[in-house]
Amino acid sequence: MGVSDGHSIFVYKDLGLVSQVFDDSVLNSLRGYAGIGHVRYSTTGSSTWENAQPSFKTGPRRQVAIAHNGNLVNSLELARAIDRSGGDEGGRGTPLRASTDTDLVASHIALADYPDTWDAILEVLPRLQGAFSFTLMDEERVFGARDPWGFRPLCIGRLPHGGFILASETCALDLVGATFVRDVAPGELVELSVNGLRSERFRDAPSAACLFEHVYFARPDSNLMGSNVYASRYRMGQRLAAESPAVADLVVPVPESGVPAAQGFAQHSQIAYGEGFVKNRYVGRTFIQPTQSMRRQGIRMKLNPLKEMIAGKRLVVVEDSIVRANTTVEIIRMLREAGAREVHMRISSAPIRWPCFYGIDMPDRDELVAARLDSLDEVRAHVGADSLAYLSVEGMVEATGIPSDAFCTACFTSGYPVPIPSWELQGKQVLEQLSVGKRGPPR
Ligand code: SF4
Repeated sequence: MGVSDGHSIFVYKDLGLVSQVFDDSVLNSLRGYAGIGHVRYSTTGSSTWENAQPSFKTGPRRQVAIAHNGNLVNSLELARAIDRSGGDEGGRGTPLRASTDTDLVASHIALADYPDTWDAILEVLPRLQGAFSFTLMDEERVFGARDPWGFRPLCIGRLPHGGFILASETCALDLVGATFVRDVAPGELVELSVNGLRSERFRDAPSAACLFEHVYFARPDSNLMGSNVYASRYRMGQRLAAESPAVADLVVPVPESGVPAAQGFAQHSQIAYGEGFVKNRYVGRTFIQPTQSMRRQGIRMKLNPLKEMIAGKRLVVVEDSIVRANTTVEIIRMLREAGAREVHMRISSAPIRWPCFYGIDMPDRDELVAARLDSLDEVRAHVGADSLAYLSVEGMVEATGIPSDAFCTACFTSGYPVPIPSWELQGKQVLEQLSVGKRGPPR
């Protein structure tokens, strides 16, 4: 978290769960009237203290702290520009110690030669390519900005006793009793201050909101683009049942993100719905753990099959997506060990065949099972299911109730809305491999 009392920003951050990092004494020491916070899901740079956010920089005219949801695709260009300007290495600001796109943006804004931070941000934002929903602060004010394509969500709320709040998802507003005001528009910069809301559009672009947010990433109690996530996932399940029916005794979800789609599938197909697993609520999402071995080990720790429910039954198992297939392989193995007679996998998204460069951590194509294997039947055999079917892209989009031209669908279709400058230079560790901040990036 970064907080400010109007004179200087104080940032406290560390590695670990929020509850491990922020105990009562730390929270009591964070004093001020404005603040930003961030829980990092790494898409650029390793999981190190330096890369934890908010990124904090001091320049000749201001201090800046930034929290970032998304991923830029022109990080190298931004790194070169910092190097050319003599920026950090020239001693005008805090050194580049992190290896993230976010840290580069913080440096650019801290070093921008404008008296007002508003103008400094407006100078930098149009130069960014890719996905960003930012909350930013200087010593006095909090700002929010969203990329022109609107990849990642960002919304504005009003607190019950006055004041504004920005959040990635609307569910966060509910937790603090704030009311939803509106989404930050794609390509919009907003400022929150004692004077209220200030707004300016800095760039227009065709809408490219992330479709995968509706399938997996967002919380079901959030609304994205005016559409409730739970309801969209329920309709994806209904549509999946219509597109790819199965003969079975029981529909079970892969907890927890598969639950709404499984309920929709059961409703449409008139097959009983039941729990097939008990979830250990103290283990996090397996997909977003940083290494493959941790992910695989995590699956068995996370899910325990309910033998009494599944033994001897023909199951439809509904999962929201298959990325590497580790979870699916393990789940089907566990269900068979527990006595399932048949396992029919139904996936409430289309096959993921292309990497995401806009802020979802699946960068290498050869890690994606639907890209690695040639046919649906090969994937089915690999995961060990009796049958396997995915929802169509059209079905996913229609289930959201949002027009199809509003979405990025690149990981399903390869239609990248923002061109990727150089695929081989887009890896998660690209800034570390090039030693940015130590010797400077290559020219
Ligand atoms: S490529 Fe896929 S995950 Fe990435 S922003 Fe587009 S839809 Fe979302």
